[in-house]
Amino acid sequence: LKRAKPTRGTQVYEPSQAKAARRRFSIETELRRAIESEELRLDFQPVIELATGELAGFEALARWEHEDRGAIAPSEFIPVAEESGLIVALGRWAIHAAAQTLGEWDRKAGKRLPLCMGVNLSAIQIARDDVPTLVEGALRDHGLTGDRLTLELTESAIIQDPARASKVLEALKGLDARVAMDDFGTGYTSLAYLQRLPIDVLKIDRSFVTGMLKDRDSVGIIRAVLSLADALGLETTAEGIETEALARALTELGCTYGQGFHFARPLGPDAALDYWLSRSA
Ligand code: C2E
Ligand code: MG
Ligand code: MG
Ligand code: MG
Repeated sequence: LKRAKPTRGTQVYEPSQAKAARRRFSIETELRRAIESEELRLDFQPVIELATGELAGFEALARWEHEDRGAIAPSEFIPVAEESGLIVALGRWAIHAAAQTLGEWDRKAGKRLPLCMGVNLSAIQIARDDVPTLVEGALRDHGLTGDRLTLELTESAIIQDPARASKVLEALKGLDARVAMDDFGTGYTSLAYLQRLPIDVLKIDRSFVTGMLKDRDSVGIIRAVLSLADALGLETTAEGIETEALARALTELGCTYGQGFHFARPLGPDAALDYWLSRSA
């Protein structure tokens, strides 16, 4: 490592790149341990059906509360997990943990809740793991039917190996699971894939939703995505709805579902079940 020259006084400054590389390396080592020792948990963000205001389900989001460093954001540890291959173990854990929580909610409520759980899948999992067998096992272990899970994947999962992605999605449909295209609009999916692949939902990326109230372009893009989805018979979810005005605008435009801090932040498992119970009372 090249050290920066000491400047003023005696302190030695470390080049920030080296510092970042070191943090990355220790995060990788510690993430490996965190997956094994169950230092990770899931939070659950409500997904609302816009036309009725009803709770449609939740999206499971990984959280890492590090004992020394405090909370580490998914935007930091998911990329490290992907580059190190740890995403395969993390993804297996996430699917099982999400299915387990939904199964527990059903048992606590004494009935099959009409809720669907979204779980994020990385492109690396599609490439390296047997995702359909994994999902099948999680459903079986926790007594769920396939329609209770929505697997969320990004456009990159399809672009990297369309033939494989197609097989995986077909197999997921064979289990009756739902498939969502996450962060839609930020990647390069061709319309042919959207038409050909068994996708149920387009999740419109937060950047377009946030832009809606400020610029006409974002509104135009959202309209275009909604009419594209309509033409292809897909449902839509708007991510990152932070205000009442956005919720109203997206409802009027005919978006199917909404998710965002305006409705609720991601909640722990007990708070999420309470959220459902209080709304369905
Ligand atoms: P995502 O799948 O697009 O998830 C939505 C993200 O938007 C979440 O960030 C959520 O907390 C955040 N969000 C929701 N509503 C709002 C809002 O109104 N305003 C703002 N500013 N943000 C909002 P989070 O939890 O930090 O996760 C970031 C990303 O990390 C996720 O994006 C997903 O790509 C990835 N991720 C999280 N958990 C997992 C996992 O278990 N597996 C994989 N492969 N990726 C995961
Ligand atoms: Mg997602
Ligand atoms: Mg998303
Ligand atoms: Mg997003």
